[in-house]
Amino acid sequence: MRPSRFVLATFNAHKAAELQALLALPGLTLVSLADFPGAISPDEDGATLLDNARIKVRAALAHTGCPAIADDTGLEVDALGGAPGVHAARYAGPAATYSDNVAKLLSALAGVPAAQRTARFRTVCVAAWPDGREVTAEGVLEGVIIEAARGVQGFGYDPVFVPAGDTRTLAELSETEKNAISHRGRAARGLAGLLQE
Ligand code: IMP
Repeated sequence: MRPSRFVLATFNAHKAAELQALLALPGLTLVSLADFPGAISPDEDGATLLDNARIKVRAALAHTGCPAIADDTGLEVDALGGAPGVHAARYAGPAATYSDNVAKLLSALAGVPAAQRTARFRTVCVAAWPDGREVTAEGVLEGVIIEAARGVQGFGYDPVFVPAGDTRTLAELSETEKNAISHRGRAARGLAGLLQE
């Protein structure tokens, strides 16, 4: 890869740490949006994950003038018709915390049998350059929503999501174990392949 420097278009420290580990490639330097005075989080009011990832990557690029990388993640729960979907961050309201969102999810699924608690995380990653070029990659992780939170690693809905083929929640995996199988891991590895082309 030619030496390249990208701004990571997020203020979410957990997400930034995962992406830093996933995109640790020779020649690729990731800098934080927080290092650019005046940078703000744009409203993520797109209808799709790709729309929201583009909103974030284009805002970071416009503010910094540097190539940028963003991701957007949704949680699709089958028994809830795909909710919270793209609205995962604000599922329990505009100022919702991770635990508010988890509590709302568990109560929405109260009484739903284990076999019907299937769900998936979906991440879309976008890289954008000042000349208008953009590349995108998607990653999906299938699993189930359990009935009570377990584990302290990770963030967001990790404590209630058990990936298919495992018995542990994502919050019971190390960051390395999560990155090896996760939606963000798959999307970031896809993006890394595109960046190396
Ligand atoms: P974002 O819009 O990509 O920042 O993600 C929306 C919301 O999805 C976040 O606020 C988290 O609640 C949740 N989320 C994103 N990524 C993950 C993850 O890797 N594990 C669990 N929850 C996540």
